[in-house]
Amino acid sequence: MKRIYCGLLALGLALGASGCGQVRQPEAVETVGEAQVEAEKPKYVALTFDDGPRYNTTGPLLDGLAKRGVVATFFVIGRQVEGNEDLICRMAADGHQIGNHTYSHVALQDLDPDAVVEEIQKTEVVLEHLVGEREFWLRPPYGLIDSSRAALVDTPMVYWTVDPEDWRILDSDRVAEAVVSKVESGDVVLLHDFYPTSVEAALEIVDRLAAEGYTFVTVEQLFRINGVAPQAGVLYASPEKTRKIS
Ligand SMILES: [Zn+2]
Repeated sequence: MKRIYCGLLALGLALGASGCGQVRQPEAVETVGEAQVEAEKPKYVALTFDDGPRYNTTGPLLDGLAKRGVVATFFVIGRQVEGNEDLICRMAADGHQIGNHTYSHVALQDLDPDAVVEEIQKTEVVLEHLVGEREFWLRPPYGLIDSSRAALVDTPMVYWTVDPEDWRILDSDRVAEAVVSKVESGDVVLLHDFYPTSVEAALEIVDRLAAEGYTFVTVEQLFRINGVAPQAGVLYASPEKTRKIS
């Protein structure tokens, strides 16, 4: 039987040691959000975070999302997991979707096929050790992958529909405004839990969109809500839109 690290940590917790809590397996659609506006069509948005986990930023983000009862999707870099295992456990326990952002954040289209598979699988092994076997959807770094390498990917791939360029702007109010002014129901928003300004922006986005009646879901949940069965090796901008790859 495979041992799941997060479960062992939970056991440690029961015995008085420190560690993270119980791991929640992915579930059917949950509606998580703050405000519901009457007589309006439900509005859904998936916030996604790349380039973590990073202790000083991902931790406060998870705190803020938990406080608001909101779930999101984290595309994590495999090599950054070591030393941040508790953050991965918390993501799972809080119902967030965990995705794969390769092991060392490389542009996959520049790699040999063997190296592409290695970048993906190494991260899967690290994550499975922590949260158990499940599908870790891939976000290719920089959103870049070509069709021959995409054929090697055995999970769905996720691009985005709203990109506020938070890594460049580094101003929480401007990032939040860029998202809130553009977002529509069904969007997938790209953010990076690597920058304190992006964490602040994300929580501001949650508060403002919740007040507009939005419900926050994981990418996987967004597909289910839209009745779209995601296919392996396809790069989706959202359930409704695929990103063309050459
Ligand atoms: Zn990235």
